Amino acid sequence: MASVRVQQLIKKYDQVVAVKGMDLSVEDGEFMVFLGPSGCGKTTTLRCIAGLELPDGGTIKIGEEEVTHKQPAERDIAFVFQSFSLYPHMTVRENLSFPLRAVKTAQSVIDERVMMAARMLHITDKLDRKPTQLSGGEQQRVTIGRAIVRRPQVFLMDEPLSALDAKLRTEMRAEIKKLQTDLGATTIYVTHDQLEAMSMGDRIAIMYGGLLQQAGTPMEVYDNPRNLFVAGFIGSPAMNFVPCTRSGDSLSLSPAEGAAAASLGLDSDGKGRFATTPTGDTSLVLGVRPEDVAFVEAGTPGSLPVRVEVVELLGSENIINVGLAGHIVKVRTTPTFRPTLGQTLHARINQSRSHLFNKQTELNIN
Ligand code: ATP
Repeated sequence: MASVRVQQLIKKYDQVVAVKGMDLSVEDGEFMVFLGPSGCGKTTTLRCIAGLELPDGGTIKIGEEEVTHKQPAERDIAFVFQSFSLYPHMTVRENLSFPLRAVKTAQSVIDERVMMAARMLHITDKLDRKPTQLSGGEQQRVTIGRAIVRRPQVFLMDEPLSALDAKLRTEMRAEIKKLQTDLGATTIYVTHDQLEAMSMGDRIAIMYGGLLQQAGTPMEVYDNPRNLFVAGFIGSPAMNFVPCTRSGDSLSLSPAEGAAAASLGLDSDGKGRFATTPTGDTSLVLGVRPEDVAFVEAGTPGSLPVRVEVVELLGSENIINVGLAGHIVKVRTTPTFRPTLGQTLHARINQSRSHLFNKQTELNIN
């Protein structure tokens, strides 16, 4: 296995600069997820690492070797695509054997590796079937098996589960994660699904606009998002954002049109956390996750009156949408909490877990 290092990667397609100077490292044996919205440059970066696209600038190293201008076959990587891309006229066994036959591997080695992959992927009883006789999940297992048999240094996977239904996708996520752990294989996995990224990645590289926004463990990016984009992209429901300014020991929440302003006094947690936040005119954005707001008794210090606007009953939890200075704030509660629409509640924000962002630079400043 090997590390992957991408430095100042640039890739253009005519007028479109798809990747604008990407820097990132994937450590030996690590499961790295590239996450970001459609068009952010995930696939292009992955294809450059695979050698399927030639970069316009920057370097790519796999292990100690610079591979920026090498052919895919010279890179010792295996690529798993979105579509299953199996040979329809071949059996599962023949499909799994194909990459090894192509490089003239001894039959005994082929048999051993095919069996090993089939066992890992639970398809030993499907080896003599054709792809059309398999379910979608089984076909994707064979595709992954074809990558495993080659024992490459690095696995590159581009949304390999996107063609599967939701239930199967959840099952396969766990399977791929376990497989990667068992193989100890350096893996880069592209997805636009943040749940997939959070549940599978040792680390997540969040991309937007052809640039890396932040790389870190799922908890690092969740708890300490570097900027407004990462904060809003990771987490479901998304982090609540309320524009504000700081005046002394309180935050003045800027009202939405037609609404009354509100002031949030900083408690000892907030004073500590936001100690270096500028006071005065600097436009800030308060970021609070839905689980970091609690409904409390009226008169509780630090609580603010809010009005219930929408109640979302989700079975395992409820999301209560309340109006705060005219902004909708989503609050995660237990499923038994069912306030009525229009009711006034009192909300207390957990300031030790909240964030302030500079509205201009969009950076997290605490
Ligand atoms: P998705 O999740 O939709 O696959 P992505 O993050 O993987 O998106 P890329 O496929 O890397 O994004 O595309 C990045 C940008 O480059 C997009 O604006 C896309 O339209 C453009 N692009 C990608 N491939 C080509 C191409 N072959 N020719 C022209 N433009 C391209």
